[in-house]
Amino acid sequence: MKRLCAFFVVVCVVSIIAAPVSSRAASQPDRQVAITIDDLPAASSNLISAAEIVELTSRLLGTLRDQKVPVVGFVNERKLYKFGEVDERIKALKMWLDYGFELGNHTYTHMSLNQVGLKAWEDDVIQGENVTRLLLAERNMKLRYFRHPFLDTGRDLETRRDAEAFLVARGYRIAPVTLDAWDWMYAGVYEDAKKRSDSALEQELVSSYLSYSDQVFAYSEQLAKQTIGYEPKQILLLHANQLEADHIGELIELMRKRGYRFITLGDALSDQAYGLPDTFVGEEGTGWLERWAITQGKPPQETPVFPQWVMERSKALHQPQP
Ligand SMILES: [Zn+2]
Repeated sequence: MKRLCAFFVVVCVVSIIAAPVSSRAASQPDRQVAITIDDLPAASSNLISAAEIVELTSRLLGTLRDQKVPVVGFVNERKLYKFGEVDERIKALKMWLDYGFELGNHTYTHMSLNQVGLKAWEDDVIQGENVTRLLLAERNMKLRYFRHPFLDTGRDLETRRDAEAFLVARGYRIAPVTLDAWDWMYAGVYEDAKKRSDSALEQELVSSYLSYSDQVFAYSEQLAKQTIGYEPKQILLLHANQLEADHIGELIELMRKRGYRFITLGDALSDQAYGLPDTFVGEEGTGWLERWAITQGKPPQETPVFPQWVMERSKALHQPQP
């Protein structure tokens, strides 16, 4: 009996030692994600100088290159046209290609398809192509990705489908979004805190942003499994802002801990999920996981709650949604 007990003790000790290794492997599924960054050359480009845009861009892209994370950046070309700064702002855009990344179109003025007629919106898409197409052509690359501003894809299905046909005819692939933790809402508050040298608030914002992102990732992984039966190759939406320039490394680390590998947008789009039925229309743009769920008649429940205090501070700054 004594010997049997001793045997069990040994078995237990061995399994306790072995457990963390096997459960770690089991608890870390192989996840894949493509990162996309909107509102280039910088989300708050009307508030900061070209020199600051170049500085922000080099920090952001430096981290992404060091981390070997492929990215497509989506441009609003109107942001290039500030008197006396056009060349330097175009230089900031060029840096994306110099670092080995790709550029896509996000319309000229960041126009919502839900707020204007189709023709005016199409003109804004075309006007948004000039510089980006040239910069890409210099490197034998094509302008091939489009991201809808505000994720607004039309208030009725006819407009939505007409716009999609227009984009396809111009050679675009639409870049959907499946992961979005509203970094833009944090970014304005963060930039304001930085300007006032309020480092305590900066830190609070960063830790809130990272923990909210973690919640959004967990929620989205779950929603994907419920809606389409598996986790597709995800597409994350971020913005070109100080918050990401300073802290995208921590976000990447957080995602690696969740088991994510970083892939190109082209690779992500090869996932069959992006061909699933999607008849979503609405006043407010939303992510593609939500669209598939709504199309199936199962709108998502219990979505993560965005921290109220950040929202209030953001509203107090009157920052527009990017
Ligand atoms: Zn945008």
